[in-house]
Amino acid sequence: MAQLDLQSKLAILADAAKYDASCASSGTSKRDSRGGKGVGSTEGMGICHAYAPDGRCISLLKILLTNSCIFDCAYCINRKSSNVRRARFTAQEVVRLTLEFYKRNYIEGLFLSSGIIRSSNYTMEQLVEVARSLREDHDFRGYIHLKTIPDADPELVRQAGLHADRVSINVELPTESGLQRLAPEKDSGQIETAMKDTRRSIEEAGDAKRRFKSAPKYAPAGQSTQMIVGADAASDGDIIVRASSLYDRFQLRRVYYSAFSPIPDASAVLPLMRPPLMREHRLYQSDWLMRFYGFKPAEVVDAAGTDGMLPLDIDPKLAWALKFRDNFPVDVNRAPREMLLRVPGLGTKAVDRILSSRRWRKLRLDDVGRLTLSVAKVRPFITTIDWRPTLLIDRNDLRSLVAPKQEQLELFAA
Ligand code: SF4
Repeated sequence: MAQLDLQSKLAILADAAKYDASCASSGTSKRDSRGGKGVGSTEGMGICHAYAPDGRCISLLKILLTNSCIFDCAYCINRKSSNVRRARFTAQEVVRLTLEFYKRNYIEGLFLSSGIIRSSNYTMEQLVEVARSLREDHDFRGYIHLKTIPDADPELVRQAGLHADRVSINVELPTESGLQRLAPEKDSGQIETAMKDTRRSIEEAGDAKRRFKSAPKYAPAGQSTQMIVGADAASDGDIIVRASSLYDRFQLRRVYYSAFSPIPDASAVLPLMRPPLMREHRLYQSDWLMRFYGFKPAEVVDAAGTDGMLPLDIDPKLAWALKFRDNFPVDVNRAPREMLLRVPGLGTKAVDRILSSRRWRKLRLDDVGRLTLSVAKVRPFITTIDWRPTLLIDRNDLRSLVAPKQEQLELFAA
């Protein structure tokens, strides 16, 4: 590997980290100010945003320790056979960069991942050393998110959680067959065992903390994972079922969905085009339906078409309501919380406000209208003291009445 100065390494290893969605903001249009016009960028690499356990949005230095890797996962720009410029930080270089950026107030923490160098254990030791040195040598109080290497020694993964706020292990692909085809050196059994161990360590640390105030914390921001969408043939239904099983079994804080992006010199087994970004967005919406709206995975899958794919033009909650109209209209003044949460256009905050307001008075359509962005979307699915959607709910053209108006697409939009 050529000798590079710190700045060149930073440029390569911050760019290489952009493919991990675990803390990225994606889905917006591309803008930058590199031509000297304007200020800011939606595409810059190196600093990403994440949510701390207390809900604050924080900036993280997002880099890889190295983009060299002994594995050859087909979808990854850093794979062994990829023709990219390689670089590698030492653990102490990452520590120095983090501290310097932190002191200048550019960042509030570090997101560190890595290709696999020499062996999983060797790589994991380096990642742990960065976190250890920051915490123990420099008393660093900022946020640390470490990607762990699934087949590394469990003791090393345990040490990662003692220093990091969050640890994550990517499942990468939604199905076992997809993983075997595109990342044959990875083993989904090992990935899940590592997640199970992390869950156990988090629970044990929580128990110890309740009994002894001085017990050490373990990954207080929990664990998360990432799934690549659109690199294999998995349908949205497959992805939803897998995500739900991961939440249930490993108590994940988040599953991140990352639309596959074609990479230079891509393997011939990959699709040539990225899936629409809207697909990623619909998967996040379905994730919220399961986590905050009481939908069972099978119900979200029911919102998909016969091919298992969620519609792109309407959100999954609206798709479900249109398919299962016999659940509507819902009486806003009497229905339980779980039924109000099923109404398209009513979010959790709106439902809570409806529940608290109706203790004092009966609600009218105008009252509900003030709690939602689009009363036209809500109207066919509710009744109030002054509104009944007579026949509306049964109309054949209801979908076109409530679907968002189509916008002119950019010629080259994904
Ligand atoms: S192990 Fe990670 S870094 Fe290495 S090729 Fe696979 S996805 Fe890329």
